Amino acid sequence: MDTLFISDLHLSPERPEKLELFRRLLRGPARKADAVYILGDLFEEFWAGNDDSTPPAAEIVDELKQLTAAGIPCAFLRGNRELALDAGFGALTGCRVLPDPSVIELDGTRILIMHGDRLCTRDWSYQWFRAAMETAAVRGLYLAFPRALRTMLAHGLRPLMVRSMKTKAPEIVDADHGAISAALRAHAVTELIHGHTHRPSVHEFTLDGAPARRIVLGDWYGDPLMLVCSGPHRRLMRVEEYVAEAT
Ligand code: MN
Repeated sequence: MDTLFISDLHLSPERPEKLELFRRLLRGPARKADAVYILGDLFEEFWAGNDDSTPPAAEIVDELKQLTAAGIPCAFLRGNRELALDAGFGALTGCRVLPDPSVIELDGTRILIMHGDRLCTRDWSYQWFRAAMETAAVRGLYLAFPRALRTMLAHGLRPLMVRSMKTKAPEIVDADHGAISAALRAHAVTELIHGHTHRPSVHEFTLDGAPARRIVLGDWYGDPLMLVCSGPHRRLMRVEEYVAEAT
């Protein structure tokens, strides 16, 4: 059976066709999967808290709840759009909210999973922002604000971040090779799956004399890609194709 990995869906009412594709995936082939992993940036807008009711939050929560209620294990790893998301989201959806990074086991192989933003170590201004948001005190302070204020702050953040990303050189916002090697070594693994950079690819390389692999998931802005793992096989494939194959 298949284990599915998706990330960077950036779901928003502005792209109803992507929301529909997500629904078809979750109600279709995902119901036959061993497990579904969402590696962050499920939402386009910054997550304002577990009472966030900005469309399509309620719809997405409901789709996830239906999937987990059907007995499919679903794990969620926070992306940079969801830094304020906590275990409460797990209670809402039935998903397991995993720390970033996490090591999972797939058919006897240990795999490191991350959103990927931590690997962009050359983007120091973003890393500073992320570290602040990861602090329990900062997150606690933020979550103590009234919902209207949190929503305003969260939604005000996106244009600022998008503008800031546009001014940064491509090599600054890509994963750093040193950070990738360090992450693999720290967790004693040779395989890494992440998203965030929107540069889908399977990178095969050698790390300390052993074959290593890094799979980068695709985003859902254009033609969405996902990773389908079955046994030792890895397929980076179009979500449309995977959904069509199953029906
Ligand atoms: Mn991201």
